[in-house]
Formats: sequence, C-alpha cells, structure tokens
Amino acid sequence: MTLLPSNKALVPFVSVDHMMQLINHTGLTQMMIGLCEYIENDFKRWELFDKTPRVASHSAEGVIELMPTSDGEVYGFKYVNGHPKNTKDGLQTVTAFGLLADVTTGYPVLLSEMTLLTALRTAATSAMAAKFLAPKGATTMAMIGNGAQSEFQSLAMQAICGITHVRLYDIDPLATEKAAAHLAAAGLEITTCKTAQDAIEGAEIITTCTADKQNATILTDNMVGSGVHINAIGGDCPGKTELHRDILLRSDIFVEFPPQTRIEGEIQQLTDDHPVQELWNVISGQTLGRRSDSQITLFDSVGFAIEDFSALRYIRDLIDGTAFFTPLDMLADPDDPRDLYGMLQRAK
Ligand code: NAD
Repeated sequence: MTLLPSNKALVPFVSVDHMMQLINHTGLTQMMIGLCEYIENDFKRWELFDKTPRVASHSAEGVIELMPTSDGEVYGFKYVNGHPKNTKDGLQTVTAFGLLADVTTGYPVLLSEMTLLTALRTAATSAMAAKFLAPKGATTMAMIGNGAQSEFQSLAMQAICGITHVRLYDIDPLATEKAAAHLAAAGLEITTCKTAQDAIEGAEIITTCTADKQNATILTDNMVGSGVHINAIGGDCPGKTELHRDILLRSDIFVEFPPQTRIEGEIQQLTDDHPVQELWNVISGQTLGRRSDSQITLFDSVGFAIEDFSALRYIRDLIDGTAFFTPLDMLADPDDPRDLYGMLQRAK
C-alpha cells in the first residue's frame, strides 16, 4: 500500500500496460523462472492454505469464476472467464484480474490485471510439473492448440525444462503460423504440423491447450506411446475435456486440488475413486513423480487459486520501488473511521 502526504491509503494497481512494461523490463524468461520459484514455494507449504474449488457461474457460452485462497497472512482472489467462442468476435477466450489483501486489516494491498499474468502462471505451473514428471533430458514438445496461451507454454518449457524443439498443431493454420513466427524468434526449433498425430511424433512432452466447450478428443489412446509426459491444459470445465478416457486409464495422473479437478479436469471422465496424486506432494518431495522410463505421466491442469496467489505475490514484490503501477484511490478513508457520512458531506 502507498501513502499520500495526507496519509491516504492508496492501492497499487498494475494495468495491462504496466504489466507489459514490467514483463518486457524484467524479461519473459526471468519472469517465468521467478513465477515458477514462487509457485514452487507455495506448493511446498500447500497444507497451510485455505482451499476450496473455485466458484463457477456457467452459461451456454462459457464460465465466470472466482478463485479465492489465503495463507493466513495474505488473502487473494482472481476473477477469470473462459469463453471459447469469444475469439470469433475479436475478444479473448480468457481474461482476468486479481487482488491481494492483508488478512489482519482486510485492506487490499494489490490490484492487478491477470490476463497476461494467468498466461504466465499457467505456463510456469506446466513447466514446474514437467520439471518433476517429464522424462529426463526431454528436448521436444508437441504444442497442440496454438492460441493465446501457446507461446507462453512453449517459452516456459524452454526456460525451465530446456526444451529446444516445439512441434505445433492447431485446427486453424493461421494460429499455428502466428505461434511459429513468435517462437522461432525466441530461438526454438519449430516444426509446423498438419495433424495432432504428426505433432506428437518424437515428442517427449505433449501439451494440449485447445479451447472448445465440449468433450473433445484431441488425443486418442493409440496416439500416445509409453514414457511421455502430457500437460492437459485446455480441459478445465464440466463438459470440456481434451483426452480420450482410455489415455487416462493408462496414465499416472497428477492434479492440483482433487475436489476441483474431479469437477473440471480430464478426470471428470473417471469415477470419483479413481486414484490421482496431488502435485504438491511431488513438489515438496513427499512422493516420487516419474518412477520409470515407460510410465505415462499426466498433469491434468485446471488452474488453482494458489498459483494465482503466488503470481500476485511475485508481482507485489517485483513492483516494489518501481513505477510499474498506478496508486489507486479505492479505499474510503474518513478522518474518523466511524464518520463515513461526514466525509461525504465535506466532499460537497
Ligand atoms: P484460445 O482460444 O486463444 O486458443 C485455443 C486454440 O485451440 C485456438 O487457436 C483453436 O483454433 C484451437 N483448437 C480448438 N479446437 C482444436 C482442436 N480440436 N485441435 C487443435 N486445436 C484446436 O484459448 P487460450 O487462451 O489459448 O486457452 C486455451 C485453453 O486453455 C482454454 O480452454 C482455456 O480455458 C484453457 N486454460 C487453462 C488454464 C489452466 O490453468 N489449466 C489457464 C488458462 C487457460
């Protein structure tokens, strides 16, 4: 929180423009590494967080969700939508903003755009999972779905897991062309593919990040060989999945928060007692991630509130002492805290 000379409490607000300046100033690779560290640290102290499946409001076109959590000292939430048909009207599928607050006073300490930040945190979380689950020495990733998230997913894998080659596929060739141009400029070897089957050829890591409000089958069982790691990012709502059920039955499945993933993830296709492992157990060293070369590991990602909390914490620390925010007058601050009415009268 920033204080004006009058001691008026102002809340730092990171706009989309400031976020872009901050990312370009810090460097995207550095941001991915920093975010991954913050997320890893919070996954290691997973048990002390308040955890609840996100609160979702569904419509025919998409979903609007609130994602709250707290570590007892700081509270955070994100507002996020998912509307796959939006891009047809020139709108984003996913937009978001989020807030951090001090638990002691309940006062907000940061308000931030989170559309860009969600792309970064989702990518950093995928790369963190792959660091623990993917085959050692993996160099090639298939990136299926080349929309807004795709470059971030690929660059996080480059920065954190050492991927050097990305094989791109999207049903829309223009999306693939766009991602190919961006990623080649970032120093990755790029292969554009005509089918999903072609894209996964020789890939040790397969990332699916498509948007369609249906039970899609981006990968069928016969396409997936032994030993690969799959990041399933796009299936994140009831009735919105990407993988054939048979792939799930052959995989060791890792999830963020099981009560939320059972509602929203690929595992909504399985019975509620189907065994899954919690990713935080692997990150904190309590269980082993990959145990053999032939194992198929699957990160059934839906995005959990703690990742957004970590991302907001990272931004709060990063903007300290910089000009990459606007102080926002969003807290009523009467001289006498019980005289809100008097403050209104004096403003006339
Ligand atoms: P986007 O609309 O920008 O891109 C999605 C791409 O998928 C489009 O280019 C589209 O042509 C392509 N696509 C659709 N069906 C396909 C198919 N059958 N095969 C190949 N490509 C196909 O969306 P985005 O912002 O990149 O988000 C992608 C998905 O990731 C969304 O479903 C979103 O809800 C999800 N998401 C998940 C998380 C998480 O934490 N797990 C976070 C953010 C977004």
